[in-house]
Amino acid sequence: MIFLDAAATTPVRREVLDAMWPYLSGEFGNPSSHHSLGESAAAALADARASVAAALGCRPGEVVFTSGGTEADNLAVKGIALARQAADPCLDRVLVSAVEHPAVEESARYLAKYHGFTVDVVAVDRDGLVSPEAFAAALRPGTAVASIMYANNEVGTVQPVAELAALARDRGIPLHTDAVQAAGWLPLDVRGLGVDALSISGHKLGAPKGCGALYVRSRTPLEPLVHGGGQERGRRSGTSNVAGAVGLATALSLVQTRQPEEAGRVTALRDAFIRAILSSVPGAELTGHPVHRLPSVASFCFPGTSGESVLLELERQGVVCSSGSACAAGSDEPSPVLTAMGVPAAVAQTAVRFSFDASVTREDLDAAARAAAAAVAGVRSLGTR
Ligand code: PLP
Repeated sequence: MIFLDAAATTPVRREVLDAMWPYLSGEFGNPSSHHSLGESAAAALADARASVAAALGCRPGEVVFTSGGTEADNLAVKGIALARQAADPCLDRVLVSAVEHPAVEESARYLAKYHGFTVDVVAVDRDGLVSPEAFAAALRPGTAVASIMYANNEVGTVQPVAELAALARDRGIPLHTDAVQAAGWLPLDVRGLGVDALSISGHKLGAPKGCGALYVRSRTPLEPLVHGGGQERGRRSGTSNVAGAVGLATALSLVQTRQPEEAGRVTALRDAFIRAILSSVPGAELTGHPVHRLPSVASFCFPGTSGESVLLELERQGVVCSSGSACAAGSDEPSPVLTAMGVPAAVAQTAVRFSFDASVTREDLDAAARAAAAAVAGVRSLGTR
């Protein structure tokens, strides 16, 4: 099987599992316990926090461990908006882009439904980019928080986050960025980016599902969403997932060390793959920005097919990929990301995303391009019979 769905999830790396194993077995203590087992778990948690902080270029106290990217996004958007509104009731707007992951989009919708916020949505262009001018115009007085993803999960478009953060900062508005897909490929230095909050998720990087983190700049107001024993400095209660934190930290430092050489190599493979698809599949259209895109994502529409049928055919030929985001898979609705980019609904239904990690090879991608050409031709010929 050629697995080209790494944007959905990745297998746990051996080094990550080895680093986690002690905290799932002999060193199983609760870091809040005041005995030696607890202390050793607390030390491991502190080391993991320091390691994640080093990868993000922040202080350990600015890292909140979460159950993944979804929780980190929820905590950032709801937590910052609610805390800032509590201090100033005039702060009753949130700003998101039209291509956010549902974890951000639904958090904004929740704030509108239950807390009376107005949600402003900044449009994207045909390539899925948020323009700094459009973003600046959308940053209205009263905006409690803005959230613009670093890189899109369906089409791989990379936003000019540092430029957007500077615009938000000039207006005193905190900017959160969802870096779940960017992590491992793009610089995550939060000071360089100038963001106030940034989400990452372990299972996209070779750590298990169910671990992630939110960077929150110190002194950024943040209302916790999960109440209880006051772990994570009161920002996220619940017995700490020590092994998950260790796994996340290990996976993050492994992927950080591979940059930028790996990113350059994978970008060249991606571009060759894109060329192969565009030349061998009649009518194929690349989705997302041709240059400002993740090294690891090649996404297309194949008009005259259905994305789901092409996927089935590809899987029959041993290539596993996705018809869009894993979250929307199986849904009959056209992707909101593609429709926000101006792709007609009928064409958006034909979307296929190939995404890979650094282990991808030219042979795999050559085989996948041949399989895609055959799959699309097969689906089209069935449709015309
Ligand atoms: N944000 C983006 C951009 C994603 O791609 C994903 C997962 O697909 C998430 C958030 C959610 O992360 P998790 O699966 O860790 O909850």
